[in-house]
Amino acid sequence: MDVLNFKVLLITALIFVPIEHLFALRPNQKIFRRAFLNDLVYAVFNNAPITLGLVAVITLATASMGWLVPKSVGTAVSLQPIWLQVTEIVLIADIVFYFAHRAFHAVPFLWRFHAVHHSIEELDWLAGHRIHPVDQILTKGASFIPLYLLGYSEEAIGLFAFIFHAHALLLHANVRLNIGPLRWLVASPQFHHWHHANERAAYDKNFAGQLAFIDVIFGTMHLPGNAVPERYGIEDPIPSNYIEQLAYPFVPKGKTDEAPSTSDA
Ligand SMILES: [Zn+2]
Ligand SMILES: [Zn+2]
Repeated sequence: MDVLNFKVLLITALIFVPIEHLFALRPNQKIFRRAFLNDLVYAVFNNAPITLGLVAVITLATASMGWLVPKSVGTAVSLQPIWLQVTEIVLIADIVFYFAHRAFHAVPFLWRFHAVHHSIEELDWLAGHRIHPVDQILTKGASFIPLYLLGYSEEAIGLFAFIFHAHALLLHANVRLNIGPLRWLVASPQFHHWHHANERAAYDKNFAGQLAFIDVIFGTMHLPGNAVPERYGIEDPIPSNYIEQLAYPFVPKGKTDEAPSTSDA
């Protein structure tokens, strides 16, 4: 774990622990809940393989597909004001993320990677770190590749990466946050908590990472009033520690379970 990652994690904890305390959705949920240590291991160690993988995937993609976009387009794109670039990036990246995320739910082999994230049974900001590196590299890679191909500036992409990360942690946080009618436009904790619900009506819903209206457009929105799910998680037999969770998707199906349905997400 590098020093920068440790500082980021410490600052993140100093921001989210008080927020979760003040606006708790489940006040009885403890900070040191079950699986706390495992999720802490993710927060500390998972960043390294993800960063390595993302750099590899994006380098490969830009080297092999860079010719698709004329240089003049890249110049025009990167000369736009940064706020406009970031706004466009959020839209482009989240449309790609939406479909990549849907694919991870629909394709059984991909689901085995994504199931690790859906094995979270007590949601909070720390649990949001529990993502299989392959899952994160492919979904994030897919949404970042078009940004590099189109020529968005490093500053705009960096700012977007920060916003995306902060938003993702908030979506998993143990908070009740009423954003009124905006909840049909922007992904809220309630929106993403339903994505993690262990309830049939909520399976395969709310795929967007930031823009909830993408789910409205494609008919996959599930936001019943102010209600929140009773329980989270899946039935798939996900092991309980980091190393075994990393290995889980590669272990032959018969050795871990019978036949998990992809609709169990
Ligand atoms: Zn999912
Ligand atoms: Zn999630």
